[in-house]
Amino acid sequence: MGFNQPVVDTSPKVSDEVRKTTCYMCACRCGINVHMKEGKVAYIEGNKDHPVNQGVLCAKGSAGIMQVNAPSRLRAPMKRVGERGSGEFEEITWEEAYDIAVSKLKPIRDEDPSKLAFFTGRDQSQSFTSLWAQGFGTPNYAAHGGFCSVNMAAAGIYTMGGAFWEFGQPDWDHTKMLMIFGVAEDHDSNPIKMGLGKIKARGAKVVGVNPIRSGYNAVADEWVGITPGTDGLFILSMLHCLIKAGKIDLEYLSQFTNAPVLLDETNGSAEEGLFLKDKDGKALVIDRNTGKLAPFDGKGVYPDLAGTHRKAGVTHRTVFHYMIERYMSEEYAPEAVAERCGISAKRIRKLAAELADVAFNQAIELDRPWTDFAARSMIKWWGGPFRSTRCAEFQHMLTAFKPAARCMFCKSCSALLKRRAACGSNHPTPSQQLRTPNRTAKSLRALRLTGHTWASPTGQMTFACAKTAVPHVSIKRSHGKTPCPRTA
Ligand code: SF4
Repeated sequence: MGFNQPVVDTSPKVSDEVRKTTCYMCACRCGINVHMKEGKVAYIEGNKDHPVNQGVLCAKGSAGIMQVNAPSRLRAPMKRVGERGSGEFEEITWEEAYDIAVSKLKPIRDEDPSKLAFFTGRDQSQSFTSLWAQGFGTPNYAAHGGFCSVNMAAAGIYTMGGAFWEFGQPDWDHTKMLMIFGVAEDHDSNPIKMGLGKIKARGAKVVGVNPIRSGYNAVADEWVGITPGTDGLFILSMLHCLIKAGKIDLEYLSQFTNAPVLLDETNGSAEEGLFLKDKDGKALVIDRNTGKLAPFDGKGVYPDLAGTHRKAGVTHRTVFHYMIERYMSEEYAPEAVAERCGISAKRIRKLAAELADVAFNQAIELDRPWTDFAARSMIKWWGGPFRSTRCAEFQHMLTAFKPAARCMFCKSCSALLKRRAACGSNHPTPSQQLRTPNRTAKSLRALRLTGHTWASPTGQMTFACAKTAVPHVSIKRSHGKTPCPRTA
């Protein structure tokens, strides 16, 4: 007996044209192929050749088709014709819409443009709406950001040097421990999912900090079910532990952050609490080479984390000074925050210790040259601490850099050092003691108490390379003459 089976086309042609673009259902801009059929969007698929998503498309990205095809899509300006909240609107022409807008905005602009507070929602044209606000003359402009992805982007800039929408990502190929705090899965979804897959395949640890255990937290190696709204407190408590244990990277803070910037402490001044600045508006630090004020990004400037500046009877101190003073406070001790965060003190200490172990004992080094914000050339990228035994290496990596003869703790923070000594932590004995001819016995003693092994070896000299005329450092005693970083 014969059967008449229907012939099924398992790969029907879904489009007559494919347009390549990027998705904007969230801000990470995955590459997409938009299939058009008879002039309409028929189907969206991930572009496997795009570096961000390599063909992956999330559910939101697929739903992007409704941005174009949804029957509820706005196609013309709408005017409310009923009571506010009644939902009664009617379509009007663009000319009518402009007239209404001008009748409301012109009087404000004529009187004082800054009286307009302009707030936009999420769309792809924020650069234009901000341009419009500037053209109107109001600085009171904002967008959805603070409620949405901007928090995530800001955290990316602070921790990784780039927002996800500028394609900033953790180093998925080398990260050894990743803590994700409150990351919703609606932004940067594909890159994070792909990245998590990569780091889990390498055996790196993922810690998800979130009140709910869904999505990324469900696949994390450890889930920390924090009380909503207490993430910052939890982080500061870990910071408290790290400071007390001496596990903070002082060289990094000095060289690459605003920790050494002096704060204006002039009582009652409009600038009180803000950065102390020079006449060109540059934030000021104390240069450890000269002991004098200098712009933070000045050539050859080596910012002093513990610098102070006395002017008109007022002592101006650094951001670092305030941070240490504040976060060493028992107010941030794990025992003090545990109940509010819903995380035990023991667990907070354990997580801080794990972070410290990865950061200080498992340095990551990559042979990749790079240039920092002050145009200093580096021959390597390294993710471990800059200080300690690394210091000599660090010094010869910095071109046009005059080595400092003083430790950052030698001048004005003896109170801090005493407190550190009293904290009861078992600070390691420095393997390399700082010994410079001008160091007093007292300051050496203080230095030993810190447990920091930052080394400024005797006999540093600066040479200029014959080929490049770039000054570089020879550290005679312990490391021999180091080659020029540009010609080596
Ligand atoms: S993660 Fe999803 S929503 Fe975001 S850009 Fe990519 S496909 Fe679009």
